[in-house]
Amino acid sequence: MIGIVGGGIAGLAAAYALQQRGYVVQVFEATDQVGGLAATYETAGDRIEKFYHHLSASEETIVSLIEELGLGDDLAWPIGKNAYYMDGTVYPLDTPWEIAAYPYLSFYDKFRLTMLTQEIDVRGGVPKFDTYDDLEAFEDVPIKDFLYEYTTAGVYENFFDPLLEAKFGSRKEDVSAAWLLGRIKFRGERDLLRGEPLGYLRGGFGRLLDRLVDAVGEENITTGTRVTDLDFSGGRVSALTVESDAEKGNGIGGGRETHAIEACVVAAMPNVLEDLSGYECAIDFQGTVCSVLSVEESLTDTYWLNIGDDAPFGALIEHTNFIPPKYYGGEHLLYVPKYVQSPEEAVWQMDDEDVEELWLSGIEALFPSFDRAAVNWIETARNPRTAPIYERGYLEMVIPYDLSTEVAEGLYYAGMASRAQYPERSLDGGIEAGFACADRIATSAATETPTTSPQRPQADGSG
Ligand SMILES: Cc1cc2nc3c(=O)[nH]c(=O)nc-3n(C[C@H](O)[C@H](O)[C@H](O)COP(=O)(O)OP(=O)(O)OC[C@H]3O[C@@H](n4cnc5c(N)ncnc54)[C@H](O)[C@@H]3O)c2cc1C
Repeated sequence: MIGIVGGGIAGLAAAYALQQRGYVVQVFEATDQVGGLAATYETAGDRIEKFYHHLSASEETIVSLIEELGLGDDLAWPIGKNAYYMDGTVYPLDTPWEIAAYPYLSFYDKFRLTMLTQEIDVRGGVPKFDTYDDLEAFEDVPIKDFLYEYTTAGVYENFFDPLLEAKFGSRKEDVSAAWLLGRIKFRGERDLLRGEPLGYLRGGFGRLLDRLVDAVGEENITTGTRVTDLDFSGGRVSALTVESDAEKGNGIGGGRETHAIEACVVAAMPNVLEDLSGYECAIDFQGTVCSVLSVEESLTDTYWLNIGDDAPFGALIEHTNFIPPKYYGGEHLLYVPKYVQSPEEAVWQMDDEDVEELWLSGIEALFPSFDRAAVNWIETARNPRTAPIYERGYLEMVIPYDLSTEVAEGLYYAGMASRAQYPERSLDGGIEAGFACADRIATSAATETPTTSPQRPQADGSG
């Protein structure tokens, strides 16, 4: 059996790909629900992700998987409208004329920003098209220095700085220009006249998780069960121990159990890998506090509102300006997120009620006509590790998929600190990481001697 630690998208994808190759798998998920960061809430209609989710056009692995699992017809690519809130006004920023009308960037700033997004280096007045091909050359360059040199001070101060502040907070100075350039490439082709099409699965990405669970088989997934130990013998991972709560009725019956395994895929955050194997990863993670508000009326007509003014949240993301309210029983759904760099931050210390009060008063300050009586419900999710800080030198800290050299044969890593989750952590990256581990397990089995190769089921289904 191959043990998989974590029932998020990466663990489920690894299980699916391994089963397709004939391996016997068992996924162990610590919480009561699969999905990890992609878990969902119920609404009056379709489910909604606890943390906002959409796809970029460059993400192909998830699109293929959605199609393979029979959901291709439900994958929609509406325009995700963007706007900037500055000095009390919402400025839409999708079309060329909206960008032309934006008063906080000069004409020259806009030209330099456009050239950067088209990956054209116009320093010195002679366009160069290959400057940004080698991202490694920018790995040690701070974003601010880069933008001052390759664009203008105005582009940095009035466009990128508020976005970096929202995304990385006090760690923004640590992030590399290579990350920014990678992030620009990561975004798909824009529709020049309308904005950026973003992918969303009608009914929510929870449906993809459901299909994966069906494909893997519920009997091969155990929720409410935390992997607490890995055993190694003869330089190989040999067993895993799980701890479960008797009341959860997960079939294990509570207490601890040890299972012999031929290989293990850790599909969880690096601290879990460290606890289980001692492998240390130097990547820092930030947390997120994120609420979903169900409101009677739309706040703006944009999907993603960046906030240039002071606000207690990083952005306002109105999901139902992307996927219409009719799918949610008429509810308007608004995400209010805040990334947290340290557990000492005030918002992390607050209970949900105080967080919700903070959001509501913050929205009222920006939109005086907002009526909190029109809020139907608020749900708040928080997680201490939701995104890596893509600091300079990041790629050297990435955890390899195959940890046979670093730790022991048979140990694999598909969590958020893997290569597939750069330059942006995503569902697609989780699936790629899960698939990459499955590939490596199969390749290693093919090259090992029969006595040590992971056991595959026999033609009659046994094993
Ligand atoms: C605010 C926010 C916005 C996002 N926006 C997008 C977006 O727009 N588009 C997009 O594609 N992605 C987005 N993502 C990222 C996406 O959700 C993640 O990249 C993806 O879900 C990570 O999946 P994973 O399986 O690697 O990790 P996780 O989802 O973290 O799953 C790991 C699982 O392992 C379990 N676990 C941990 N320890 C143990 C243990 N010892 N034993 C058993 N189980 C254990 C956990 O409970 C968890 O369920 C966003 C995430 C956040 C937080």
